[in-house]
Amino acid sequence: MRKERGLLIVLSGPSGVGKGTVRKELFSQPDTNYEYSISMTTRKPREGEVDGVDYFFKSHEDFEQLIGEGRLLEYASYVGNYYGTPLDYVNETLDAGRDVFLEIEVQGASQVRAKVPDGLFIFLAPPSLTELQQRLVGRGTETEDVIASRILAARQELEMMNLYDYVVENDEVQLACDRVNAIVTAEHCRRERV
Ligand code: 5GP
Repeated sequence: MRKERGLLIVLSGPSGVGKGTVRKELFSQPDTNYEYSISMTTRKPREGEVDGVDYFFKSHEDFEQLIGEGRLLEYASYVGNYYGTPLDYVNETLDAGRDVFLEIEVQGASQVRAKVPDGLFIFLAPPSLTELQQRLVGRGTETEDVIASRILAARQELEMMNLYDYVVENDEVQLACDRVNAIVTAEHCRRERV
């Protein structure tokens, strides 16, 4: 029997909402059935980040070469750096019948929506904008200027929420993970019926 193509799952939402935390929690669970697509970025590694694990860290020139060669499914310039999803990895994994999970910001998610309309698009929302600001400041990984830019971006990103298949509130990480897993399971049941 021919193996079904995997499902492309896109988790997006504003910076600071906890996408990375939810994603790490999802992938720390032993029964996770998705493959995480490690993104490329020109951002410098933060303390403790490992090349090939957290991101593939690239120079500006190398990243632009990848764009030119059409090797990214999507990419975005976000607060002064490029971020993008490797196309070959995503296609090969989906073709092998495995689900692929992207954790990306909203400009990139819109590009994926246009290219892969049958993907599953989940927006992770903060309980409130005030809470989001507190999380960005509390994380302590960015300078004040960068935090201000990210808050500005977050206001615009929140307006995109209605374009997604599902909105998951990240009030508590474990609950958010349970909701994401439930959505993916429901989506498989829905598709396999057709
Ligand atoms: P950070 O610098 O905090 O790791 O990531 C900044 C933003 O870029 C986050 O919203 C993160 O989800 C997003 N991001 C990470 N990888 C990608 C990617 O491959 N493509 C896009 N468009 N955004 C990404």
